[in-house]
Amino acid sequence: MKHTLLIASLLAAGLAQAAAGPEFNPQKLSQDVKVLSSDEFEGRGPNTAGETKTVNYLIEQFKAAGLQPGGDPVKGKKDQRGWTQDVPLGRFEIKGPVKLSVKDAKGSQELKQGDDLAVRAAMNGAKLVDIKNAPLVFVGYGVTAPERKWDDFKGVDLKGKLAVVLINDPDFETGEGDFGGKAMTYYGRWTYKYEEMAKRGALGTIIVHETAPASYGWATVKNSNTNVMYDIVRKKPAEAHAPMEAWIQRDLAADLFKRGGQDFEALKKLAQTRDFKPVQLKDVTLSAHYAVDAHVITSKNVAARVVGASKPDETVIYSAHWDHLGVGLPDAKGDKIYNGAVDNGTGLAALLELARAYGKAPAPARSVLFLAVTAEEKGLLGSEYYAQFPLYPLARTAGVINMDALSPQGVSRNFTISGSAKVELLDQLIAKAKQWDLVYSPDPKPEAGHFFRSDHFPFAKRGVPAISYGSGDDFVDGGLRAGKQAEESYTTNNYHQPSDEWSAGWSFKGMAHDLGMLYSLGRDLAESKGWPNWAPDAEFRGARDATAAQRK
Ligand SMILES: [Zn+2]
Repeated sequence: MKHTLLIASLLAAGLAQAAAGPEFNPQKLSQDVKVLSSDEFEGRGPNTAGETKTVNYLIEQFKAAGLQPGGDPVKGKKDQRGWTQDVPLGRFEIKGPVKLSVKDAKGSQELKQGDDLAVRAAMNGAKLVDIKNAPLVFVGYGVTAPERKWDDFKGVDLKGKLAVVLINDPDFETGEGDFGGKAMTYYGRWTYKYEEMAKRGALGTIIVHETAPASYGWATVKNSNTNVMYDIVRKKPAEAHAPMEAWIQRDLAADLFKRGGQDFEALKKLAQTRDFKPVQLKDVTLSAHYAVDAHVITSKNVAARVVGASKPDETVIYSAHWDHLGVGLPDAKGDKIYNGAVDNGTGLAALLELARAYGKAPAPARSVLFLAVTAEEKGLLGSEYYAQFPLYPLARTAGVINMDALSPQGVSRNFTISGSAKVELLDQLIAKAKQWDLVYSPDPKPEAGHFFRSDHFPFAKRGVPAISYGSGDDFVDGGLRAGKQAEESYTTNNYHQPSDEWSAGWSFKGMAHDLGMLYSLGRDLAESKGWPNWAPDAEFRGARDATAAQRK
């Protein structure tokens, strides 16, 4: 036993030397978080005075770190760029009442917005949604996954019809199968269901809410769908959004199935198999009528760059969202400013400290882009915009390392990423972590689909190897007990609340420690000739392989 310990500590000493690199300063991290989450920055809401202050502060710091502007090209000037990328966002709000009703052979029944259904403001460009007696077609999990030989649609025509679909993926209930068991694949996310039905020309998507496979209750569905919606400004919005996008309470859905001559639970079981075929509910139709107010606001991504010494057109990205919730409803103390110190002042501080370290070191072979994205809190929109209109080609972007809501506490023995991912970039991070005495702890709740809920995801979806790094919970000081307690206390008392404020008691030593590892991961990738990829059975492998010719 003693021998093992001795060897382990010798190894640790040797490895600690191997890990020598730039030092990251906890005081600097603390200072950046303090400034960015101060009341003066008004909770960093997009398109507010808080945005201007935030964007200016980030530019100032990137400049001081010796980086180059990496944003939109300056009009009329060759090879000159600004520090930002304009991000036009559509803002959509339902105006007036939402009239909803269902009709069956016996008669019609009014439904209530927010209680029976949660209908979002249309984002397809329509000013009015007016659906009269549209048939309802149950499409199971609504999955088209050629790599898994799975197709729930079997050629059904959804034009003029509303698709009723289950949340999560076909093997969630059994925990075993071709969709990662309990873990959620992208096919399980509501965003996927909306996109897929829009692609198929459906009149709308109605997702059946069930708490376990959704991983949240009806209150969350109601709150996040019935208020103001945002989307990036798309060239063809109707290709991404069907006219109607909604959720329905499970029991109401089961009742409609019954009225249409079907058994919800039996069909749900069938939907867990490849043999499932879409089923139209007999004589049951739905009508919907509501007006939508839409206009465009403009926000900004901030982009700073270290230009690669020998392969400047190949890029490694570090990213973090700069926005938070701005000024909103007051809490019990009357505080209305949602400061967002942890979410995501910490990620921004990390991004700035990494930029400072890169600024001091010789430029690596590939370029490194430091990207502070907007509107994460409105649905990953700044990162979605960048991924749709990339400043540097995604085909030659080697990897994305995103940081969101890091722990400002002391050093941990472990780290994590958002969700689960079969990607070599994660394998490289896990290997690297040993030099920092860090072990990888997988997401304990992969069924919640956290992989699809952070800013690396718009990149991953398009095939770019991308992960969101997350702080550990096994504190060197106090172990898992202290770590889990700190996490729970944050989630309960501060997460998305005005009390997410900077504290003088935060040591920032954990972040300073882990940044060495993230620096080294990005640096290796920026010096490498390699292109990490997804595992052959990962749902994003196909998208990456499609651009392989551009990486020769
Ligand atoms: Zn965040």
